[in-house]
Amino acid sequence: MEVSPKVRHFLWKLCTHTLPTRGVLFHRHLIDEAVCPWGCGEHESAYHAIFTSPRFEEVWMDSGCSRMRDNSDCDTMCDLVVKWKQLDLRIQVKGAFLMWCIWGERNNKVFNDKSTPNSVLLRRVDRLVEEYGKYAVNIYRQQGRVSQSPRYWNPPSQGCWKINVDASLATEGWVGLGIIARDHLGGVRFTATRRTRAFWSPEIAEAKAIEME
Ligand SMILES: [Zn+2]
Repeated sequence: MEVSPKVRHFLWKLCTHTLPTRGVLFHRHLIDEAVCPWGCGEHESAYHAIFTSPRFEEVWMDSGCSRMRDNSDCDTMCDLVVKWKQLDLRIQVKGAFLMWCIWGERNNKVFNDKSTPNSVLLRRVDRLVEEYGKYAVNIYRQQGRVSQSPRYWNPPSQGCWKINVDASLATEGWVGLGIIARDHLGGVRFTATRRTRAFWSPEIAEAKAIEME
């Protein structure tokens, strides 16, 4: 989804049930009550916090993204995310930023006991969508320029090894990491590979390969 990394990270936490809602904290015995901070009396699950809390009903309706909340035929949050693919891309992107803002507003309530007017929240969402659109275009252009890999491998100086790493994203949901260390004659000193279940961007995957090394 074409949203900023922080929003993707938020969505990942939403899908993996690691968003620290009161429901989750209660389940881990960290707090004594799981009740929604907005005073509606409901249990604060992630689904409630983001999608069904009465606090955000009007914001959802006014945003034009309300269809993203429809979890009929969905057993899990991941099912719901997959279902978003049926929606217009602009709705998906705006809705994702909206969810992220809703979570921020929820935290503003919990930690600062403050609340933001809906009109301000909606303007914030629109601004984020617009800003990220511009940002993504710039990044995409730059990537086109720098994605060429060198055609020749240059050996390191004598007494040194050179380590090259790479990541493969050929299969969605799987990332392959590879490492090769060679000496100044090009002799292989060690190699390592790893396959891991993840949804990383190419930049993150390559960084993970370096980290593995
Ligand atoms: Zn509530």
